[in-house]
Amino acid sequence: MTQIHQRVLKGRVWVALHMHAGDGNVHTNIPVNSDDYEMLQTAHEAVKRIMKLARSLNGVISGEHGIGITKLEFLTDEELQPFADYKQRVDPEGRFNKGKLLRHAQMDGATSVYSDLTNAYTPSFGLMGHESIIMQQSDIGAIADSIKDCLRCGKCKPVCATHVPRANLLYSPRNKILATSLLVEAFLYEEQTRRGVSIKHWEEFEDVADHCTVCHKCVNPCPVKIDFGDVSMNMRNLLRKMGQKSFRPGNAAAMLMLNTTNPQTIKMIRGAMVDVGFKAQRMANNLLRGFARKQVTRPRKRTAPLPSRSR
Ligand code: SF4
Ligand code: SF4
Repeated sequence: MTQIHQRVLKGRVWVALHMHAGDGNVHTNIPVNSDDYEMLQTAHEAVKRIMKLARSLNGVISGEHGIGITKLEFLTDEELQPFADYKQRVDPEGRFNKGKLLRHAQMDGATSVYSDLTNAYTPSFGLMGHESIIMQQSDIGAIADSIKDCLRCGKCKPVCATHVPRANLLYSPRNKILATSLLVEAFLYEEQTRRGVSIKHWEEFEDVADHCTVCHKCVNPCPVKIDFGDVSMNMRNLLRKMGQKSFRPGNAAAMLMLNTTNPQTIKMIRGAMVDVGFKAQRMANNLLRGFARKQVTRPRKRTAPLPSRSR
C-alpha cells in the first residue's frame, strides 16, 4: 500500500504558480520526473489547459520570460508574423539564433524543421533515473558538477587568452562551459540510446579542452570561482582515460622535455625544439600570414562618439 502511495505521489502532476501583483504576469512551473512517460504526457496536457485558460481570460501567451520553444506551438501564425517579417528584414540569411521562433525554419539547406519542442532533447529539464546514475558514477559527472554553478555572466571573458572576439566567439571560458554542458548532455543521450558515444562528440570535447592555456586567470573574476583551467585538465584526463586523446607531436616533445632528467638529453631536445622547431614555426607564420590576415584584422569602427550637447 505504501509503495503504491509513493508511486502515485512521485508521478502526480501539480502546478506551481508565481505572479507579479503589479503587471499581471503569471509564471507556471510544472515539475516532472523525466523517467516517467505518463507523467510527462499529463504535464503536456496540463500546459495545454493552462494556455487555453489564459486565452479565455483575455491573457497572452508571451510573458515576462519570452516565448522560447515551449510556448511556440500555442501562438498563432498572425502573432508570429511581425517577428518573422522583422527577422527577414534584418537577418535574411538567418545567422542569429537560427530557426528560433520561426514556425518553419530553413535549417541546413533545404530541410524544413519546427523550432518548437518537436526536435528538442533537454535532459536538464529533469535529470532523473538512468541519467543521474551515469552522472554519479562517472568522471563526466565530476566535470558537469564543476561547471554547474556558472551564471553565464561573462566576467571571465576579458582575462582569457583564448577569447579572441575578432577571430571567433567560441573559446571564452563562458562559451567553453556552455559547449561542455551541451556535450555532457549529448554523451548522456547517446549513452542511453546508442551503443557508446559518437567519435565526433569526443573530437568536439577535445577541441574545447585544448583551447585553454591552463593559466587559471578566469578564477579571479568569477563570482562562483570556476577555474576552467582545472576543468580543462579534468577533460584532458578523461580523454586520455577513454583513449580519445589525439597524438600531437608538439605536445609529446614538450612533455618529453619536461619529464627528462638527464642534462645531456635535455640539451639535445631543447636544441631540436628551440633551434629547429621555433625557426620552422616562424617560417610557417611568415608564409601563411597573408591567408590569415582577413581573420585577424581588427574590424572597422561602426560607431562614433556622441556629439557633446550644447546648452
Ligand atoms: S565568470 Fe564564472 S560564472 Fe561568470 S560566465 Fe565566467 S565561469 Fe561562468
Ligand atoms: S585557464 Fe583556460 S579558460 Fe581560464 S583564463 Fe586561462 S586559458 Fe582561459
